[in-house]
Amino acid sequence: KKITPKKDKYVIASDSTFAPFEFQNADGEYVGIDVDLINRIADMQGFNIEMNYIGFSSAIQAVESDQVDGVIAGMTMTDEREKKFDFSEPYFQSGIQLAIAQDNKDITSYEDLKGKTIAAKIGTESADFLEKNEAKYGYKIKYLDTTDAMHSALEVGAVEAFMDDYPITDYGINQGKLLKTPVAREEGGSYGFAVKKGKNPELIAMFNEGLAELKRTGEYDQIVGAYLGKED
Ligand code: GLN
Repeated sequence: KKITPKKDKYVIASDSTFAPFEFQNADGEYVGIDVDLINRIADMQGFNIEMNYIGFSSAIQAVESDQVDGVIAGMTMTDEREKKFDFSEPYFQSGIQLAIAQDNKDITSYEDLKGKTIAAKIGTESADFLEKNEAKYGYKIKYLDTTDAMHSALEVGAVEAFMDDYPITDYGINQGKLLKTPVAREEGGSYGFAVKKGKNPELIAMFNEGLAELKRTGEYDQIVGAYLGKED
């Protein structure tokens, strides 16, 4: 089905570093699952996009304040967010998980986090989870802007752990990051492409059409497989 775009160009905000969904390759170009999906969908559905990789909480705020038209940033569809955003069909099933340094032998459960400092990216599901369980487990939360900043904070010992979406941590581990995940991951929601509630309905419709087409042709699996290989 062909949907007509209503704007000459849609501005889409995204995270700054969220490999393998959006990250810069050796040439400094943004690549990743979100990047490929939105580019292919725009191509197939015949609309123009401009990408802004401004970071997760900035991307969310930019959509809420009408500075951009949509956000694709490994954004989990939650009941809370459904009040402010309209989401596409889900495009990736995810979840969150605690990560620590590979040589850390002290932390094997949430109970071991007592008195420790745990990093979370501002405005994420992981931050929500850590806030909800802060009193129960007695850790402190350090809020950071990016996944890279959490990795660096852990490396220099500024935090003892961080929490992030598990496909991001797993990808990092596969790329040689000295991390491990001692605690089973939390059941998470799915990622969706989002617009501000009631705005740009044609953009969501075009995304859904394109996504369905990518799934039908197998190109969706190729894109995900190119970054993740065979998933469990
Ligand atoms: N999926 C998580 C969330 O929506 C994290 C997204 C991100 O860090 N880009 O909160």
